[in-house]
Amino acid sequence: MSRPTTVIVGASIGGVRAAQALRAEGYDGEVVLVGDETALPYDKPPLSKAFLAGKATAADITLLDEEQAAAAGVRLELGNGATGLDLAARKVELADGSRLSFDDLVLATGARARPSPWGGRSGVHVVRTAADALALREDLRRGGPLVIVGAGFVGAEIAATATALGIAEVTLVDPVAVPLSRVLNPAVAERFGALHAERGVTTRFGVGVTGIDSGGVRLTDGTRLDAATVVVGIGAVPNDEWLRGSGLTIDDGVVCDRFSRASEDVHALGDVARWFHPRHGRLVRAEHWTNAVEQAACVAHNIVHPGTPRAHAPVEYVWSDQYDWKIQLAGRTGGELAHVLVPGPDPARAFAVLYADRGGGFAGAVVVNWPRASLIARRALAATAALDTVQADIEALTAKEERV
Ligand SMILES: Cc1cc2nc3c(=O)[nH]c(=O)nc-3n(C[C@H](O)[C@H](O)[C@H](O)COP(=O)(O)OP(=O)(O)OC[C@H]3O[C@@H](n4cnc5c(N)ncnc54)[C@H](O)[C@@H]3O)c2cc1C
Repeated sequence: MSRPTTVIVGASIGGVRAAQALRAEGYDGEVVLVGDETALPYDKPPLSKAFLAGKATAADITLLDEEQAAAAGVRLELGNGATGLDLAARKVELADGSRLSFDDLVLATGARARPSPWGGRSGVHVVRTAADALALREDLRRGGPLVIVGAGFVGAEIAATATALGIAEVTLVDPVAVPLSRVLNPAVAERFGALHAERGVTTRFGVGVTGIDSGGVRLTDGTRLDAATVVVGIGAVPNDEWLRGSGLTIDDGVVCDRFSRASEDVHALGDVARWFHPRHGRLVRAEHWTNAVEQAACVAHNIVHPGTPRAHAPVEYVWSDQYDWKIQLAGRTGGELAHVLVPGPDPARAFAVLYADRGGGFAGAVVVNWPRASLIARRALAATAALDTVQADIEALTAKEERV
């Protein structure tokens, strides 16, 4: 009997971890990892941080090289993206016209940067791929002024990296008056706005963009910002177009059940998956590294053990590195939730904000420059501990750290 084949489409963190997890689960069939880029699979978070800064090389961010792939029995099919799916025939169509047969299929095609609605010109960048980051790094060699449109995590990280590279004039623009106030309560979000100002970045919050032209960015208040380089960081869109018409449900991502199953023998994971989160009782899509890793492990388990599938019910976790600050978010956080601030040993730069759900239970935490508090919060969320208990545990940590 021939060995079964699992085809994984998308060769970044989710796809690579799924391949490795299949082997860890004892899968002994063929594993084919399909990627549309020719480069070896690489990791995305450094693209706005150490890789953009030139401190991490392509080798440093490689997730799987040829040797590791061979050792794990993973066939790499790179530079040959998937263009279509024939569910009935169990075949994936590739850009070169060939078709790959599968017994199980894993969709891990992630997301791409939302393109600039103001058109492109040389000097206008998005950052989603290594090539994007290299092109931006090259333009930053010319110095400023740099204008970043969008003060979400990626935009804020690029502002921090550019400042560290010595770019003198960096401006961060966002139409929202207090960026990140959806995921942080306004007081904490304002603290991050202040952090940029302290590090020399000009912030123009509460002002939209009307256009980008050869020398700058025009704003809704009638002003214009000179820019040699512009970064448009306004979010991402899932890479799901190639699956339209395949028979799978596509709705801002590949729609899946609680087991990350899009149909029989087809699973999706990472940024492209919109799955039913059992604890939230609704479909969610997460654009976070840790989710891709955890969902990959879950999908591999479900392929190898179809009789005992595991629901994917993660505690959300995302981090962001800006300047010398580390920001960690776990669980549900945000402006509409009641919250309590726990100062850290150095309260000006280290603190935890704990959020309560409607019943007063512990919903989530934003922890700044205080990894031990973040660990307590994440463990407490996994164990569904009470808010008071988590607060007491983190306060005890402060007392202990102050004594040392
Ligand atoms: C600049 C940047 C910084 C980030 N920083 C953080 C951070 O600090 N913390 C955090 O938690 N998250 C961060 N993220 C988000 C995190 O990187 C993503 O959540 C994660 O990469 C998702 O992994 P994925 O494998 O699902 O998708 P992706 O990483 O998007 O990978 C999908 C892969 O599939 C390929 N592909 C697409 N279409 C096809 C096709 N048709 N055929 C074949 N291949 C295809 C793509 O080229 C890509 O290689 C960051 C993202 C970016 C862009």
